[in-house]
Amino acid sequence: MVGKLAMFGGKPVRDEYLPYGQQWIDEADIKSVIQTLKSDYLTTGPKVREFEKKIAEYVGSKYAVAVSNGTAALHAACYAAGIKEGDEVITTPMTFAASANCVLYQGAKPIFADINPKTYNIDVNDIERKITNKTKAIIPVDYTGQATDLDAIMELADKYNLIVIEDAAHAIGTEYKGKKVGNVSHMTEFSLHPVKHITTGEGGIITTNNEDFYKKLSLFRTHGITRDYDLLVNKEEGSWYYEQLELGYNYRITDIQCALGISQLSKIDTFIKKRRELVNKYNEMLSSIDGVTTPFEADYSNSSWHLYVIQIELEKFRALRKEIFEALKAENIGVNVHYIPVYYHPYYQKIGYKKGICPNSEKFYERMITLPLFPRMSDDDLEDVVIAIDKILNYYKR
Ligand SMILES: *Cc1c(COP(=O)(O)O)cnc(C)c1O
Repeated sequence: MVGKLAMFGGKPVRDEYLPYGQQWIDEADIKSVIQTLKSDYLTTGPKVREFEKKIAEYVGSKYAVAVSNGTAALHAACYAAGIKEGDEVITTPMTFAASANCVLYQGAKPIFADINPKTYNIDVNDIERKITNKTKAIIPVDYTGQATDLDAIMELADKYNLIVIEDAAHAIGTEYKGKKVGNVSHMTEFSLHPVKHITTGEGGIITTNNEDFYKKLSLFRTHGITRDYDLLVNKEEGSWYYEQLELGYNYRITDIQCALGISQLSKIDTFIKKRRELVNKYNEMLSSIDGVTTPFEADYSNSSWHLYVIQIELEKFRALRKEIFEALKAENIGVNVHYIPVYYHPYYQKIGYKKGICPNSEKFYERMITLPLFPRMSDDDLEDVVIAIDKILNYYKR
């Protein structure tokens, strides 16, 4: 139905629907997967180790542990951080639910700190206000790819003895003060879902410089089971022997997926370059449209740009975000909203969270729209988006 007719009649700006994000799979990716399908190992084999090594090299960390998805990566990191019932973990509501769900999986309580209205990332002052003697960890999110102020957060972590699990699902390739994220926090999680920068279909990976975390993450990924002789409780059983030391999960990733990941990783610089070019073009073209706030980037961040999010200055228009959003969809522009504040979800309401706890996030939610951004998007595609915004905002102008 969408796109048959533009909202104000006539032909939509685009004939074909433009998605907000899309993977880029080429022949080399396909070849790499086929080779692995013909090899001896489909899971827990050499491609997994190779992928982990390459990601660790890319971000500059000592260790990397690949798992079945980004959410599993966050869960494993919460486990490795020792988060358990009675603990509190501070995160942002302006994120995908997984950033807080991982805390609930461990029986602990997510505490939401508000965003900074300029960067849209978690506000470091609000983190400090929300620290109690139950606080165990902080999960900052590099929202849209912009690095959070990691030095300030690590300083708080030192001061209050907390662990920082960075949700960098949006931010592979992002630099914080010239250093890649994945090499700053205690543990950093990346997602490899198809809408993210590089993909394994489903997948996630955690990077860390801490050997103890690395060992715990590895154990958690595979049921809590080990064959490592040094870790065994009973050492004299025989060479068939393995032990389950902890209650872990099956969060393994396949060699098939990692073969795709290795091939995708070899193209990451091109992908990010293209995203940055598109963002510059958006910033430039949208600057001439009144009522649109384009993203602000802090000087310590060099974003790899997973998402491009604008704010509509609603006081200038006779419409709510919803009407503007639906009108853009009718023009065949694949807009989106990232995100519904996590505690708005009925599940979070049911377990006791109230609306109103993070006013900056709530106001931002009312006004934001995510525009299409992916490396294969052409300049013409981008111009269509800007033309559609201009058309609709002119229509609704006060
Ligand atoms: C995508 C995403 C995740 C979860 O990743 P999956 O691989 O889909 O499980 C977590 N946090 C954020 C902010 C994300 O965007």
